[in-house]
Amino acid sequence: MTEDNPVIPPPRRDRPPLKVNVFEAMQHSNTQLMPLFPYLHPGAMVPAGAMIIGGPNADYGHFFHHNTQDEVVLALAANGAVLGTGQVFVGARIHGVNSFLKKEKDAKSFAIMVITQRQAESGPQREACSLRCEKCHEEIYLKEFDATPPPDALEGEHPFVSVAVLPELFADFNNDEARRVCTKCGHLNRPFPVASWGWDRYATQSATTIAGRQALKQATQTPIK
Ligand SMILES: [Zn+2]
Repeated sequence: MTEDNPVIPPPRRDRPPLKVNVFEAMQHSNTQLMPLFPYLHPGAMVPAGAMIIGGPNADYGHFFHHNTQDEVVLALAANGAVLGTGQVFVGARIHGVNSFLKKEKDAKSFAIMVITQRQAESGPQREACSLRCEKCHEEIYLKEFDATPPPDALEGEHPFVSVAVLPELFADFNNDEARRVCTKCGHLNRPFPVASWGWDRYATQSATTIAGRQALKQATQTPIK
């Protein structure tokens, strides 16, 4: 490719172009921020689906996501949400994340979104999650993680870090009551509702997928007696 003759090279054989219908994919999604395609290598654009559903038991909480890379949010369809259907915006490098619903307990409210995250072209990629006090909004928890994409990362071997590390990240907060006490106002904050986001399911299913591939590989290498 030259400046005078810009040509996009054809896709690599191991990364064939794929097509996904987001609505169909989200019918059987297991997590918020579910990668729609398995390509997570350096420089990859990673469109990820999210489906937020309101209801009497809905409880998503509120956290902040910090990323050294840009993210673009497209609200593909929404009802009773702070985002309108078709609305698109670029998330700030530190942005609040909640249900995006005006009335979380309203069973008719929902938001189906595509959040496209960028994987760093080269060098380290840092992400972090933080929580603020429910009462006085003081930052009470901040944990960074290394989100640098491994070379040639395919999701089946390298689960999407932005999701897979979150159960553990929030467990440190949830399992330690002392950590949940606000140093400014003394309020004891409740545990963060990780299960509402499905990150634990994604992490477990990813680990099982990897174990399954290993088991199949071993089986093919074991002679039949
Ligand atoms: Zn406080």
